[in-house]
Amino acid sequence: AITVLGSINADHVISVPYFVKPGETLAGSDYHIAYGGKGANQAVAAARAGAKVGFIACIGADDIGRAMKKAFAEDGIDTRSVEEVSGQTSGVALIQVADTGENSIVISAGANACLNEAQVEKFADGIAASAYLLMQLESPLNTIIHAAKLARAHHTRVVLNPAPARPLPEELLHLVDMITPNETEAEILTGIKVSDEQSAAQAAAVFHRQGIETVLITLGAKGVFVSSGGEGRIIAGFRVKAADTTAAGDTFNGALLTALAEDKSLNQAIRFAHAAAAISVTRKGAQPSIPYREEILAFLAA
Ligand code: ADP
Repeated sequence: AITVLGSINADHVISVPYFVKPGETLAGSDYHIAYGGKGANQAVAAARAGAKVGFIACIGADDIGRAMKKAFAEDGIDTRSVEEVSGQTSGVALIQVADTGENSIVISAGANACLNEAQVEKFADGIAASAYLLMQLESPLNTIIHAAKLARAHHTRVVLNPAPARPLPEELLHLVDMITPNETEAEILTGIKVSDEQSAAQAAAVFHRQGIETVLITLGAKGVFVSSGGEGRIIAGFRVKAADTTAAGDTFNGALLTALAEDKSLNQAIRFAHAAAAISVTRKGAQPSIPYREEILAFLAA
């Protein structure tokens, strides 16, 4: 089993010819709401990939929050620890998608900011029974650190997808077994601009010095740089026609841990995760784009 701790957001997406300027009112099109939030995306990715998933997160006291929680349960996720916070709104992301394909995103954390240590304690059994605890950085740092300590105490491996990136205290880094930044996040956390295998190895070395055993730096269409046990190399991804890379990283993380929790080797797990993420980039949206196990296996067999 896997426990995911993280955020839930309702993504309000609108297509625009260009990003709106200060003081301007701009006509957009194709407005829709999609379920997102890095924590929720990763929990859904793991569940659809075939893992038994427990999810620690908060929704606000509103209909959209309840609808998202219901959708997670329909994906087979254990939502006992998805708590409704009274007096709060659910997390929201306002997303402009420009003609160029670029995103511009504003987030209101809402109930996500209320995820606290007491809620983690209540799900201690779930964490203890999990092989992995997967977290991101859209939740309060003190709660993330508390959960990491609890996991460590129960020999549950701690995986951190450090997104959105921000400088992290050594206290947290020392508790992490595996870190999975993308190129931008790796640069923010290590100060090293990652552009090729050599620079990725340098960035990975910084993480290793902080006590992290396994480093995976995702490189978008180029794949992933993996560094573990003193060896580092790029494992290429699959070539697909990209329609929307939203949630590619989230899908990669969820599928990766699903395979690792099935005792697959790191290389096999990366191949499985590359396939899941490749499928997700051929489809639009966050959670709507995340594939199911059968789709991933069919892709790998093709
Ligand atoms: P993030 O979405 O967090 O920025 P990346 O862009 O590094 O993360 O992508 C994560 C993973 O998604 C990659 O390692 C790869 O498996 C897959 N991926 C991303 N973009 C593409 C693409 N254009 N084609 C195929 N796979 C992709």
